[in-house]
Order: sequence, then C-alpha cells, then structure tokens
Amino acid sequence: MKKKTILIVDDEVVNLDILAELLDRFDVIDVTSGEEALEVLAKEKIDLIMLDILMPGMNGYEVCRIVKADKSLRHIPVIFITSKNDDLSIEHAYEIGASDYITKPFRHRELLARVGNALRIQELQEELRLLASIDPMTRLYNRRYFTTMADKILKLARREKNPLSLAILDIDRFKRINDTYGHLAGDRVITALSEKLMSRYRESDLLCRFGGEEFVILMPNTELDVAALLAERTRKEVEKLQVPYNGKTISMTVSIGVSQVDLENEETLDPVLKRADDALYIAKKQGRNQVHIAPDAAVE
Ligand code: GH3
Ligand code: MG
Ligand code: MG
Repeated sequence: MKKKTILIVDDEVVNLDILAELLDRFDVIDVTSGEEALEVLAKEKIDLIMLDILMPGMNGYEVCRIVKADKSLRHIPVIFITSKNDDLSIEHAYEIGASDYITKPFRHRELLARVGNALRIQELQEELRLLASIDPMTRLYNRRYFTTMADKILKLARREKNPLSLAILDIDRFKRINDTYGHLAGDRVITALSEKLMSRYRESDLLCRFGGEEFVILMPNTELDVAALLAERTRKEVEKLQVPYNGKTISMTVSIGVSQVDLENEETLDPVLKRADDALYIAKKQGRNQVHIAPDAAVE
C-alpha cells in the first residue's frame, strides 16, 4: 500500500525534525509557515496535517479554517500540535474542525497512536463516500455521484473549450425480460450490460446507472458525431450479447439518445439531459433498438 503523506507545519525547525523522525514510516513534507502549507496543499495530495498554532504570519487556526472551508481539502484531518494548553485554545481548535489536539511536550508512542487513529477514521470516511456514490449491483457510479461530478466536468470543458457530449441508454422492453425470465434474470441482464459498457467506454467517460435499466454516459472531449458513432457501436454490440441464465441465453436491445452541450450558452447539464432524453423517447417511438441524435441546443 502506498505510504500516507503527512504535512507538518511548524515555524521551529527543531520541532519539524523531531516530528519528521518520529513519523518516518510516512512520507513527510515539512514547512515552516501557514502560507507555505497552503501552497503545498494546492499541489500535493496530503493525507493528514499536523499544525502548530503560534507562527509568525498566518497562524495555525487560520490555516485550519481555510482547509475546512475548501471543498477539495476539508476531508484532510488536522491535528494541532502546540504548547498552548488552555481550555479555550483547545475548544477553539475543535470548533473550527480539528480532528485532534496534542500538547507539547508530547509522548512519542501516544502521538503515533493518535496519528494512526486519525488516518484510520479518514480511510473509513473515504470508503463511505465511495460507497455512497456507487451502485452496488453494477459497480457503476450512481445518479447522486453523476450530479455532483457533472458540474465540475462541465466547468472544465468550458474552461478548456473541449466538446462535451452525453448519451442516455435504456434497455428495450425490459419489463418483458423480467416477466419472462424473472427479476433475478433481469438483474443479470443489467449487470451484463454494465460490463459491456465498462469495456466499451473510456476511463475519462463518466458512466452511471441513472435508474433501473437506464444509463447515462458523459463523454468529455467528444463531439456529437463521435458520441453518436460510439452509441451506434454500443447498440450493435449489445444486440449481439448473449446473457447466460439458468441454462438459457437471454438477449436484449437498447435505445440511445445522444446530445451535446452548448458550451457557450448552457450553465448546467439539465437541458442537455433533457435533449438526450427526448431523443431517447423518439428512438423508442420509432421502433427501439436504435440511436437518435438530439438537435443542437439552438435549434430547439
Ligand atoms: P421501454 O422499451 O419503453 O424502455 O420499456 P421497458 O419495459 O424497458 O420500460 P419500463 O420503464 O416500462 O420498465 C422498466 C422495468 O425495469 C420496470 C422495473 O420493474 C424494472 N426494473 C427496474 N430496476 C430493476 C432492477 O434493478 N432489476 C430488475 N430485474 N428490474 C428492474
Ligand atoms: Mg426500458
Ligand atoms: Mg426505463
């Protein structure tokens, strides 16, 4: 397993040396000011911060407050390590989001145990976060995760002026599969389709199970015509899939609606999803097992 990285912030180099030596089983980055700490945090992936309070320039409380107000950093546990041992200072540290508070002089083994403890809690929290964003049956991302990521991906696409397209895919007459072979067979079909999608799409595509037998694929760096081509290939491959179940083989078809974000005018993915959904509806109405491409946003 990769070593955890601990950022130590203390204006006194002697303290840094003692801590760095004590924490030698970890990757340690040490800095002597709050300002430098923030620079490191902007660049490196840090797993834990050990923070002195009294420092010239920005003090430890301010650093902690900034970290806890930043969405991309607030998950990092902060342990204060300080000679301030009055109740108010300790209380204040916890109020602004500290995970632990260690006073100097400290006992070496106890400090190590407390660091280990903070890292373990952090790992569990990360695990929970991941669980909350994944559909257990297919291991694909769920709708909740899609919604939180969609905004970020859209912003990035706009900043870098990269085309962004989206596909909604829905299994045709899935109810019939359930009715004919049973619900468990239906589940197998959904899983088999998910595996196919995972093998077909790129790592950079955001692949989600949106609902029961409906999937959304958000494709950065992809123009509408390419997205449509990919969708058509997927459709053909799904048509050929033979899903074994209880000695039988089940096949399925899918309908797909494809749309592209109008980066100049669209602030959210809602209208893009809506266009893809309308296109999917047309694909269903025109006989299923087909891809339908949504018109440009401007045409609507
Ligand atoms: P269409 O071609 O218009 O999409 O028809 P359909 O039958 O696929 O669509 P409809 O939305 O009417 O039915 C979808 C069914 O999928 C209804 C629901 O019971 C079933 N379903 C949803 N989630 C699951 C699941 O996780 N497992 C199984 N086995 N069935 C599911
Ligand atoms: Mg369906
Ligand atoms: Mg459906």
